[in-house]
Amino acid sequence: MECAKKVILATNRFSLEKQDWEGLQQPRIREYLTKAVKDIPAAKLYFSYDYPWWRSSPVYSDYMISDSPLRQTYDFGTSKSNPQKSVLQAMYTDSDIPYWDELFTRGYVNEPHGHFVLMGKEFEQVAHKYLAEIYKIPVENIPQPTKAAAYLWENYPYGGAWQIWMPGFIWPSVERQMTKLSVNDDVFVVSNAFNARSFSYWSNAALQAVELAMPYFGLKPK
Ligand SMILES: Cc1cc2nc3c(=O)[nH]c(=O)nc-3n(C[C@H](O)[C@H](O)[C@H](O)COP(=O)(O)OP(=O)(O)OC[C@H]3O[C@@H](n4cnc5c(N)ncnc54)[C@H](O)[C@@H]3O)c2cc1C
Repeated sequence: MECAKKVILATNRFSLEKQDWEGLQQPRIREYLTKAVKDIPAAKLYFSYDYPWWRSSPVYSDYMISDSPLRQTYDFGTSKSNPQKSVLQAMYTDSDIPYWDELFTRGYVNEPHGHFVLMGKEFEQVAHKYLAEIYKIPVENIPQPTKAAAYLWENYPYGGAWQIWMPGFIWPSVERQMTKLSVNDDVFVVSNAFNARSFSYWSNAALQAVELAMPYFGLKPK
């Protein structure tokens, strides 16, 4: 039987925790995987409407930050091919997650639609209440959305949205060992989660993780 000589696991932290391979079960690696960094949950909510009602707000801006549980609200624009479709990203937050979690659990009306979950009436009512306050528009003037979709980065299959480092770990050491997990196997982890150079949050950390694995393939980062 042919076997791969080198394997790259370019997957997120949560999936590494769930994978059944002995290299990932080594006590030190397990500790790094589950304790060196912590998943941070986040959530997004999108509504589509027949018209962009929010643009008639007296305080309209295409990007609003509020101290409501919606936190960040973006005008996602109007479709050029179908002007009767406008999208509002009503919420983007990494706080108030238990609040949304409860509504997510009670609210979804359909099978998950790709990664996103189509949302129900209660979710819409709660979000509209906050949107009315943010845009200073009476809630009864907000039309019914034609679609509502939301996602919570918290549980299976993705885990948290990104990771933060926990106290008590030597970052470069974790980073080195998480790049090549085992002395004997050429299995490499290429993930933003354990990158010590870009604080493990963002895409640049994922790119730096790639650069750390490159020398094992005889490649030099530029
Ligand atoms: C809501 C949110 C907002 C963000 N905002 C920003 C931002 O503004 N700027 C920024 O730079 N970064 C942002 N990030 C972080 C950015 O998305 C990540 O840093 C980046 O995607 C990490 O890249 P990656 O290739 O390591 O992992 P990912 O992009 O997570 O890719 C991992 C892949 O592995 C796949 N996978 C998982 N498990 C398995 C399995 N068992 N088998 C096969 N495949 C599997 C997944 O489907 C996924 O395609 C954000 C992330 C989230 C969730």
